[in-house]
Amino acid sequence: MSDDDPQERDPPALVCYRCGATAAFPDRQRCDCGEPLWFDASGRAGAFDWPDSKPAAGNRTGIGRYADLLPSEIAQRVEGVDGVAAAAGDTPLVRAARLDDAAGCTLWLKDERANPTGSFKDRGSAVGAAWVAGENAESGASAGVEKSTAAETVPSHAESGDSAWLGTVSHGNMAVSVAANAAGVGANALVLVPADIAPERLAAIAAYDPEVLCVAGDYGALYRETVESDTPVAFVNSDSPLRVAGQKTTALEICEAFARGDGAGGPEPPVPDAIVLPVSSGGHASAAWKALRELENAGLLGADDSEESSAPSRPRLYLVQAAACDPIARASRDGADEVTPLTDPGETVAYSIANPDPPSGTRALAAARETGGAVVSVPDEEILDAKDLLATEAGFAVEPSSATALAGIRTLSESGAIGSEEHAVAVLTGRGFGVAEGQPEQAGVETVALADVRDRLREIV
Ligand SMILES: [Zn+2]
Repeated sequence: MSDDDPQERDPPALVCYRCGATAAFPDRQRCDCGEPLWFDASGRAGAFDWPDSKPAAGNRTGIGRYADLLPSEIAQRVEGVDGVAAAAGDTPLVRAARLDDAAGCTLWLKDERANPTGSFKDRGSAVGAAWVAGENAESGASAGVEKSTAAETVPSHAESGDSAWLGTVSHGNMAVSVAANAAGVGANALVLVPADIAPERLAAIAAYDPEVLCVAGDYGALYRETVESDTPVAFVNSDSPLRVAGQKTTALEICEAFARGDGAGGPEPPVPDAIVLPVSSGGHASAAWKALRELENAGLLGADDSEESSAPSRPRLYLVQAAACDPIARASRDGADEVTPLTDPGETVAYSIANPDPPSGTRALAAARETGGAVVSVPDEEILDAKDLLATEAGFAVEPSSATALAGIRTLSESGAIGSEEHAVAVLTGRGFGVAEGQPEQAGVETVALADVRDRLREIV
C-alpha cells in the first residue's frame, strides 16, 4: 500500500479545516486559530476506492477496511491491530419501514450498538489503541513517549510497566470503550471520571481494570487540561485526531452500503439523502464530514448536483441536540459563525450528549452548513417518544441520546427539510448502560403468583 521508507517517513500530518494550517502528530491537537486539527490524508484519499470485498476473518475487518484513508503510519498500525479493536465497526445498516410514517421519510437505522462495548465510541478508541500498540512495538515497550516531570501525575498502576498509556475524560460510553480497547492491546488505560460518578457506571468501566481517577471540581474543564497536558498519556478525547480518524468510518460504512446497494432492505438510491446524528462534542459530526469530503476527493461523491460529475451528490448532514443544552443548534439558528458556550444549560434525559461547551462545536456547525444540512434541537418529550417508537415499533432499545436522531428526523420532516420521498439514516449511537430504574410494579408491570398464571394468561390473550 505504502512505499514509505520507515527510516525516513515523516510524522503524520495534521491540518486545520478552517485556516489550513498544518502541524505534526502527535505534538498538537488544536490549531493556533483555536479550532481542532484532524489528519491530512488528502494525498492518499484521492486514489481511494471502495474495498474489493466484504471483510474476511482476520483481514481488514471493521475500521481497518478504510485504512487507505489514513496517513500511512496510522494506517499501518490500524491494519496491524487485532483483538477487540479489530472488532469495531462493520455495524448493521437496516431499513425500518414500520417507522417510516412516524419519521415522515424512508428511514434507515445504523445500529452502533453492535460495536464491542455497545457504542460508536469503539471506532475511535480502536484507532487510539492501534496507535499506542504501535508505540509499544516500536520502542520495545518503553512506550516511545517522552518521560516528563508531568508523568508523575500518572498514577502508578500495578502492571503498568513501561507500556504506553491510552487515556480519556469520560464517565460514559467513551470511558468503557477506551478501557476495553487499551486492554485489548496490552496498554494502560487512564480514565478521568467526575467524583460523583454513579456506582453502576464505575463498575462498568472498572471491569476492564483501567486506572480510574475521580476528579473533583469543574469536570468540563478537564478536556482542555488533558489537551494541554504534557503527560505520556495518549488522550483520545471526544474530538482528538485519532478518535475522529476512527469515527469517520460510521459515515464511510453508510455510504459504502448505499453505493453497493447491499443495505438490508433495498432497493435504494446510490447515496442517502440525509445522515442524521446526535451531536455533543462535535467529534462524530466532524468525522462524518471528513468522510464525505474524502469521498468527494476520491470522486465517489459529487459535491453538489450542479457539478460535472457522474458521482451521486453527497448526503446532507443533520445534527441533533437536546433542547435543554443546544449551543450548536442555537448558533445554527442565529446564523452565527462560531458556537458560543452555554452558561445556563438545563437538565435533559439525553444527558450524555449535553455538552454546553463542545470543543468541536464550530466544526460541527460547519459540517452541517457545508453539506446543506442543519443543526436542530428537540425537547425531552420528543426524545422519549422517539425512544419508545424505536423500542416498541422496531425493537431497538437505545439510550435517549441515540433516540434524538429519530426525534430530529421527525422535526426535519415536519419542517420539510427532509422530504417524504427521501432516504434518511438515523445513527443509533449506543445502547447505554441499561440500568433499570425501580421495581417492576413501579414500571406498571404486574406480578402474578405461579398458581394464578394460567387464569391470568386466559384473561390477557
Ligand atoms: Zn486553524
